[in-house]
Amino acid sequence: MQGCNMKCSYCIVPKTRGVERGRPMDEIIDEIEKLAANGTREVTLLGQIVNQYGIREFPFVDKKSPFVQLLERVHEIEGIDRIRFTSPHPVGFKQDLIDCYARLPKLVEYIHFPMQSGSNRILKAMRRPYTIEKFKSIIAELRKVRPDMYISTDIIVGFPGETDEDFELTRQAFEEVGFDMAYLFKYSVRPGTTAEPLGDPITKEQKEQRNQILLEILRKSSLARNEALIGKNEDVLFEGPAKKGDNMFVGRTAGNRVVIVKASPRLIGQIVPVHFTRVTASTLFGELVLEGVEAGVNVTTSVAV
Ligand code: SF4
Repeated sequence: MQGCNMKCSYCIVPKTRGVERGRPMDEIIDEIEKLAANGTREVTLLGQIVNQYGIREFPFVDKKSPFVQLLERVHEIEGIDRIRFTSPHPVGFKQDLIDCYARLPKLVEYIHFPMQSGSNRILKAMRRPYTIEKFKSIIAELRKVRPDMYISTDIIVGFPGETDEDFELTRQAFEEVGFDMAYLFKYSVRPGTTAEPLGDPITKEQKEQRNQILLEILRKSSLARNEALIGKNEDVLFEGPAKKGDNMFVGRTAGNRVVIVKASPRLIGQIVPVHFTRVTASTLFGELVLEGVEAGVNVTTSVAV
């Protein structure tokens, strides 16, 4: 998908990329079939609000949205083992999509779900059309069907008018959800946005302080999640050589955790079980469980829908 019909006050995308539009479903399926035939094991469906895919072009079928229909069709493609998508929005995130996590095993147990703020007052000022209660209730429903779900988010600290009380609500929600990863942004003005006239009244120091508070919560929750994997095995899709170390290779679990182990170039593009022995907040280390896996070709491919 390209473009966006939302009007978030801090964002320039609707102006620069135009209205929301999606590629025809058959064309996407055709492209993924070809990728799968060439060895691709994982695809990521991309859109500014990806769960809104085809909402105007295709009808609902059996109460399933066009995006859910697309997921079902991708799921049927032989050779594709992992399906990701980014980014969904609370708007239009309904039960039909939540149910997919129970019945489509190729849909990974990872979701990037932008929260932006935990204060309803600030969400309104940002023109984000949901409440923090709604946001948290979707996560609770997702965890009912996939208790092991890994969740990442986007947060903006220091939006104009964000008081200590507003930030405290963000801090509480951030801690309560227990995100596994997050992109934390310190607000800055984007020319041409509707928030531009509000200026940038929160000081750099305040933004930095708020950022550090969230970073520390994230570090603890991410480390705890990784520590729980020590002694366990999980399938890892190998992507390529690690930045450091002889014969060290990097891959990802279905939950999008970064894994570094001693391996061989033959494993690039392959999904191989790894036994975890050591972790940091951001990375899992361990050893291969199986050897002798055939060499693969492509690793992971993103497909714009
Ligand atoms: S932040 Fe996302 S949803 Fe909001 S206007 Fe920008 S692209 Fe659209």
